[in-house]
Amino acid sequence: MQAIECPFCHKAWFPKVRSTGEHSQNTHLNGHVAQLARETGNDFDDVKLGVKARAVKRGFPEPRIRRAGGRTYEVWKSESNCTPAECAMLIDECHQIADELGIVLVEEDI
Ligand SMILES: [Zn+2]
Repeated sequence: MQAIECPFCHKAWFPKVRSTGEHSQNTHLNGHVAQLARETGNDFDDVKLGVKARAVKRGFPEPRIRRAGGRTYEVWKSESNCTPAECAMLIDECHQIADELGIVLVEEDI
C-alpha cells in the first residue's frame, strides 16, 4: 500500500483503503472542513455541502432531488457511504478551496 502525503498538511493517507480510525479519510476531511468553516465564518455543514457541490466536477455524485410538502430538497451522498475515491475527491476539493482562499490547512488531530 502506497501512502500519499497531503501536499498541504503533509499528513500521510491511503487513498485506496477506507478506514475509520484516527488517521482515516473522514478525519482528514472533517478536519479540513472544520478549519475552512472556522476561517471563512461559515457553518460546518454549509462548508461540507459546498465542498460536495464543487467536487461534482471531479466525479462526485450529484445530489438526489427529493420533493416533499411542495418544496424541493437536494440530498447529497453522505460521506459515510462514500467510496475511498469519492472521499478523496472531497479532500482534494478542500485543498483547492484552501489554496484559493490562501488558507494553510492543518490537521485537527495533531
Ligand atoms: Zn489534507
